[in-house]
Amino acid sequence: MKKSVIFLTLLLFAFTISSFALSKTFVTIGTGGVTGVYYPTGGAITRMINKKFKQYNIKATVESTAGSVYNINAVLSGDLEFGIAQSDRQYQAYHGLAEWSKRGPQKDLRAIFSIHPESITLIISAKSGVRSVTDLRGKRVNIGNPGSGQLQNSKDVLAAFGIGINEITAEQVKALEAPGLLQDGKIDAFFYTVGHPNGNIKEATSGRLKVRIIPITGQGIDALLKKYPYYAKTIIPGKFYPNALNTGDVESIGVKATFVTSKNLHEKIVYAVTKEVFDNLEDFKKLHPAYSVLTKEKMLKGLSAPIHKGALKYYREAGLLKYIEPKLVL
Ligand code: GLU
Repeated sequence: MKKSVIFLTLLLFAFTISSFALSKTFVTIGTGGVTGVYYPTGGAITRMINKKFKQYNIKATVESTAGSVYNINAVLSGDLEFGIAQSDRQYQAYHGLAEWSKRGPQKDLRAIFSIHPESITLIISAKSGVRSVTDLRGKRVNIGNPGSGQLQNSKDVLAAFGIGINEITAEQVKALEAPGLLQDGKIDAFFYTVGHPNGNIKEATSGRLKVRIIPITGQGIDALLKKYPYYAKTIIPGKFYPNALNTGDVESIGVKATFVTSKNLHEKIVYAVTKEVFDNLEDFKKLHPAYSVLTKEKMLKGLSAPIHKGALKYYREAGLLKYIEPKLVL
């Protein structure tokens, strides 16, 4: 009797141990609309991790979401393990600004690395007659869906030009739908904060209606650049969109896409993802033209939440700590 109890206990113990060792960890990466750059970026990271399934036992999947703000909130609530989010939104969430002003600083947010640069992209239909941001007054403009990164950027740009939100007919639909609405003449313009090239702007510029990308420059923008440390000047290469009416590159301002998580995600998981992306950076860069400018050093700039400890472990091992702002190393 006693013997059989011991035997059963041992059996149960062995079973628990082996099922623990075999158990898979599922992680999901929150991205954006499928025609943006976040979605293929999530896909690229996912494939890198899944390739090493035997080593890490991690199964990654990608999810199309409303964008940066949604992703930050979802990693903080534990609904998603990872998210891609604009560097300005990372800053605002960590410091309790913009969408987080009521809830206060989101101290559990953790940065992992930054990815491609994103430009605030304003695209208009030629028949709207808009030639500069100022001409948006009285027009129907998609400023971005709630949960997206671009919603606040559009507001900042309009404010920089002294345009009140009530001076335009503001729509808040997803970026995915905006090119169709522009081509159907249902909107005159839309804002999208996004890396280039991307399927969304290709779609918007390839229709029957002629469209143009409008520069975001001028005195108001210079003041904006001084006020907010996370905005920087950018260029949207004209060559990416040969069907647009533009003849050359378009000047704008922008931010960076960043990879974020919560303090509570297990160190081993974050370590594995960081290691796979950094150790295979040259392969990663081939996956999207927007990554061509990436270097390990650049990928450690533009962050404002503390670096997750799993990522730090890798950066320490790889000798990359020197590129990280000391205040982000807790
Ligand atoms: N920057 C956009 C956002 O935060 C997403 C851009 C993309 O999907 O590439 O909502």
